[in-house]
Amino acid sequence: MSSPDTVNTDPVLIDRSLCKACGICIAFCPKKVLEADESGIAVVAHPEECIKCRMCELRCPDFAVMVRSEGDE
Ligand code: SF4
Ligand code: SF4
Repeated sequence: MSSPDTVNTDPVLIDRSLCKACGICIAFCPKKVLEADESGIAVVAHPEECIKCRMCELRCPDFAVMVRSEGDE
């Protein structure tokens, strides 16, 4: 049903065109949901661990992260 490669079902969306690979979101995620790919760009490696605390979204200096949450937007 859910595949790790299916970006659209992830709780966190990362805009790769905005991400500058600073690693801040990866460092601040309390659940280690995010990892850097070979370019240093953040990827959602463990979506099932996400607690939707929005730390990644709040800390990203380039507004590249969006956390999905029910009842939001
Ligand atoms: S919302 Fe929180 S737990 Fe989920 S990826 Fe962002 S920092 Fe990690
Ligand atoms: S904080 Fe933003 S710019 Fe930095 S790695 Fe994460 S998504 Fe990319």
